[in-house]
Amino acid sequence: MEKPIPIEVIYCPICTFPIEYCEYSETFNECKKWLAINHPEAYPDLAEDFAKIRNGETIPEEEKKPASKPKKVRIAEKKQIVVSVLKRGSTKNITKVEGLKEFGINLKDTAKLFRKTFASGCAVVEESIEIQGELVDEIIEKILSEFPSVKEDDIMISDTHKTKKVNKGQKK
Ligand SMILES: [Zn+2]
Repeated sequence: MEKPIPIEVIYCPICTFPIEYCEYSETFNECKKWLAINHPEAYPDLAEDFAKIRNGETIPEEEKKPASKPKKVRIAEKKQIVVSVLKRGSTKNITKVEGLKEFGINLKDTAKLFRKTFASGCAVVEESIEIQGELVDEIIEKILSEFPSVKEDDIMISDTHKTKKVNKGQKK
């Protein structure tokens, strides 16, 4: 016959709860200091903290669960046509149109169309079309009239290329 093992309830002098309930008390940070010395075995998860306490190190106060930080939500990139003007030299401007491909627009055909419409040099460069001259408004108008799938909201005018200084702080 086995003898029942008497369960000894140990009360915490800090919060007055049985030690296994300390963590639910409001004074748990204080309890820890007592537990660290008297009953570290009650909270095996806190062994590290207890060791620190015994070494006289201060441990960070039990943090109140911080309001969850707003996650940086990456907004799914909206397909967009970006029209920008590139400065080439002091007088030569090039209008660059990016993003047409995402609207299912054939770049080669469109370049041809622009060439005809604006009587201007026009080339497909990578995924964009570059037209000689500053033709932002004209191009936007042309895109809107030519491609009904493109709405005005889909087109953005960017002047980042324009303001970018090329020779600034060259890296070596
Ligand atoms: Zn306690």
